[in-house]
Amino acid sequence: MEFLETLYNEIVGFFNFNGLIEIIETDNYKALLTQDGIGKALGPLIPVLLLVEIIRALFYRRLTFTQYKISFFTYVFNRFISRFISIGMVGLCIAFFEPYAIFKTEFTWYWFIYGYVVWEFAHFIYHFLGHKVRLFWCLHSTHHAPEYMNLSVTYTHFFLEGPYADIIRTTICILLGVNPPLLFLIMFIDGTWGAFIHIGENIMVDARLGFLNKIILTPSHHRVHHAKNPLYMDTNFCNLLNIWDKAFGTLQDEKHEEAIEYGITRPMKSGDFLDAYFGEITLLLKDVYQAPTLKDKVLYIFMPPGWHHSGNHKTATIVKKEYFDSVKG
Ligand SMILES: [Zn+2]
Ligand SMILES: [Zn+2]
Repeated sequence: MEFLETLYNEIVGFFNFNGLIEIIETDNYKALLTQDGIGKALGPLIPVLLLVEIIRALFYRRLTFTQYKISFFTYVFNRFISRFISIGMVGLCIAFFEPYAIFKTEFTWYWFIYGYVVWEFAHFIYHFLGHKVRLFWCLHSTHHAPEYMNLSVTYTHFFLEGPYADIIRTTICILLGVNPPLLFLIMFIDGTWGAFIHIGENIMVDARLGFLNKIILTPSHHRVHHAKNPLYMDTNFCNLLNIWDKAFGTLQDEKHEEAIEYGITRPMKSGDFLDAYFGEITLLLKDVYQAPTLKDKVLYIFMPPGWHHSGNHKTATIVKKEYFDSVKG
């Protein structure tokens, strides 16, 4: 019975129904006009959309467990770990860094715009380092391991990636004066959008969203981000606003003539959870162990994935350069 109760709680928890049930049970519909109430009402949006995605795939007989396998086991494993540890980095960073904020902002629309721009910058930094520093790639690569795109990918993260992202994003935002209530609102909007951009081809074949593709980052842009094609590698690091990708030259539209191939470039055991979750860490440990000098050992940890002590690098930058040279030549 205890198992069934746990399962029930897990399902209700996954679908984020708790807040909505509370509003209905207490008849407190006025709460829907508050930020907290809107959050509770929208909580089930992405999980329900994921369910619709799976049902549609079933209906069109396109559903295979392989498409959800890595995500499913990652989710279950992370839930298991979270029973033992939960790391609340956001609260810690706010408490620690708020006294050092360069100035104070208020909860107004213009500071909201400022806050969002700063948040996207902080997100860009966390995400860029997640691709360019081998240690952080170990935390981020689990998210890139699935060879399909669907909403379950949004739940596919190494358990330490959240705290790592939170430290960088919260610290930058707080130091640059974004006040906590504003930060939580931005985190909620960006979190919802950040989940939605993983919508799969089973619901949305072309995810460019028309003219929106020109002004914001759409699911199509995020599909490009998850691609291992040289043209698409290491592009579209932002979430919603594309300003920082524009500023740093990493914005890439989805090209009709270049079909997306999802996944990571190293040889992987297809659909293997352990490889998706621990594969990069194992390889890094091996490289560090085998590196001939102490300097090389350290460099393996901090240089981009693909860096090799022999000088025979296969980093994304080099792979991309070779690709562009071959297209030109
Ligand atoms: Zn990424
Ligand atoms: Zn993603």
